[in-house]
Amino acid sequence: MDIQYDVVIIGGGPAGMTAAIYATRAGLKVAMLEREAPGGKLIKTFEIENYPAIKAMNGADLAYQMFEHSTSFGAEYLYGDVVKIEDGEVKKIISSDGNTYTARAIIIATGTKERLLNIPNEAELTGKGVSYCAVCDGAFFKNQVVTVIGGGNSSLEESLYLSQFASQVNVVIRRDVFRAEPLIQEKVLENKKINIIKKHVPLEIIAEDGKVGAILLEDVETKEKMTVPTKAVFPYIGADPNTSFTNDLGISDKQGYILVNDHMETSVKGIFAAGDCISKVLRQVVTACGDGAVAAQSAFHYIKG
Ligand SMILES: Cc1cc2nc3c(=O)[nH]c(=O)nc-3n(C[C@H](O)[C@H](O)[C@H](O)COP(=O)(O)OP(=O)(O)OC[C@H]3O[C@@H](n4cnc5c(N)ncnc54)[C@H](O)[C@@H]3O)c2cc1C
Repeated sequence: MDIQYDVVIIGGGPAGMTAAIYATRAGLKVAMLEREAPGGKLIKTFEIENYPAIKAMNGADLAYQMFEHSTSFGAEYLYGDVVKIEDGEVKKIISSDGNTYTARAIIIATGTKERLLNIPNEAELTGKGVSYCAVCDGAFFKNQVVTVIGGGNSSLEESLYLSQFASQVNVVIRRDVFRAEPLIQEKVLENKKINIIKKHVPLEIIAEDGKVGAILLEDVETKEKMTVPTKAVFPYIGADPNTSFTNDLGISDKQGYILVNDHMETSVKGIFAAGDCISKVLRQVVTACGDGAVAAQSAFHYIKG
């Protein structure tokens, strides 16, 4: 059987793009399959301030530069939503449009997807005020009140971003402390437009003329409820791995994160994984890139024997 590629990389975020650079520079024939736009979470990030040598850059700009770099040594960039992997000496990668790609090795770099609040009206009002991407939709809410749910880095970073447009940004957190880095917390606390609502959880999004009109919150201690008028709700309460297509392979933990060793090898020979979709302690651009480099190098050694 003709094998189309040495390596197929699934996912075109920072991990996949870095793997593409390393694998093509090692002389391998590489395809990178992506189901959305290249860049992964970077294109949904306002500003990156912790990627070495780049003091501050808009996420979309960094994504564009990484993408150009990632394809400059010959990696093919293909559109495809991977739904299944068939293991064997030759690996088969099957996408939802029915295309099948063959490769000697696979690098899974599919990242995570945002976790839903799972409260009434969330699904109905998505795109009508409920958004999981402040960078994509924040500008629609100029001079209006918006509400962000969550107290981690992503939540606070995006609250700062939204404060450029909105008249007020409510940040709803379950506890009375943030999980975010101290530097980001300081910026948030100094920002006059940001109003922190501590010890509350969202119960329901309230519609007004078919759009978000308010959010119903509950005090976690007293169980008292309050309705907060808002034109938008941005949930940033964590994420789950995009790995359901690997379920048959048995390479993930209970949450679906792929288990790898230091070489980014999974328990299946010739299948590697990198970036936010693996079980690890720090999910950031710089660590995703590091994983991608290791995965590509390991794939090279696997192929060359
Ligand atoms: C709001 C926000 C702000 C952030 N701010 C920072 C920051 O300031 N600094 C920092 O270092 N990190 C930040 N991060 C985290 C950083 O963006 C991620 O750690 C990084 O993008 C992970 O890269 P990745 O390549 O592993 O995954 P991703 O960037 O998630 O890329 C995965 C790609 O795989 C694709 N994909 C998924 N499933 C499939 C499939 N079945 N078939 C084909 N393609 C698929 C997706 O479409 C996506 O493009 C932020 C994240 C968010 C959400």
